[in-house]
Amino acid sequence: MTDLLPADVKSLILDMDGVLWKTDEPIGDLPAIFDRIRARGLKVAFATNNGTQTPDQYAERLAKLGVAVEPWQIITSALGVANLLSQKFPSGGPIFAIGGQGVMAALRQCGFELLSIEDAPKAQAVVMGVDWQINYEKMREATLLVRRGVPFYATNPDKTFPTPRGEVPGAGAWIAVIVTATGIGPIYAGKPAPYLLDIARERLGTTREQTLVVGDRLETDIGGGQAAGCRVALVLSGVSQLEQAQIWKPKVDVIARDLARLVE
Ligand SMILES: [Mg+2]
Repeated sequence: MTDLLPADVKSLILDMDGVLWKTDEPIGDLPAIFDRIRARGLKVAFATNNGTQTPDQYAERLAKLGVAVEPWQIITSALGVANLLSQKFPSGGPIFAIGGQGVMAALRQCGFELLSIEDAPKAQAVVMGVDWQINYEKMREATLLVRRGVPFYATNPDKTFPTPRGEVPGAGAWIAVIVTATGIGPIYAGKPAPYLLDIARERLGTTREQTLVVGDRLETDIGGGQAAGCRVALVLSGVSQLEQAQIWKPKVDVIARDLARLVE
C-alpha cells in the first residue's frame, strides 16, 4: 500500500474527538496505531478544542485505552485560553470565568485568581467555556463586564457538543448569548486559531514543515493547521466528508480513511 505520510514529517499533532474516538468508542486499534507511530520515529502531541477535561484526565483516558502519553503532550483549548491570558496579563490577576474543570484548572495553574459571582465586577478579563452548571447570574455578570469593555476570551467556537443522545449546546452556543447581549465577540483560543498548534509544536520542537496536523473537521483542524503554517491531514473517521475535503482551499495535503491508514 502507498505511504500516505510525507517522508520528511517528524511529528504529528492529533485532534482527539473523531480521530481517536467517537464519544467512548475508540477508532481502530489504538495501541497498535501508537506502536506504529513510535516505530516510525514520530513525535506526537494532541490538540483539542474540547477544554472540559484537564490534560491529566485525557492522559488517564488514553491510558485506559492502552496508550501511554504524558500530560504535557495534551493541549486543550482551556490551556490555550490560559496561555493567551498570560501573554496579556503576565502577573496574573482576577478573572471571571464560566467553564468546567479544565478551564478553571488551567487558569489557576497560570496564577489567575478566579472570582465568585459576588466579586465578578473586579475582573480584569472574562473567560468562557462549556459549563455544566451555567446559570443566569453567571451570564449576567459576564455580560455586564463585556459591556464595560473588559477583555473577553473564549475556549472554542464549536456551537454543539456530540453526545450519545445527539448534539447539545457547546461553548459557542453560550458565547452567542453574550455576543447577542453586548454586540462584542470573544478572542478564541481554540482551532481554527493557531495558538494550540503553536504550543504543541513548540513542545515537540519540530519546524512547521516537519509537523503534520491531523483532524477530522475541515473548518477547525485543517483551517487551524494551515493557519499555523503546518502541513495538514484530514481523516474521514469523524465529521468532514471526502467531497468537502476535495474542494477545500488551500488544498488538504493528505486525506486518509482514518489514523491507522495514515501511519500504516
Ligand atoms: Mg475532532
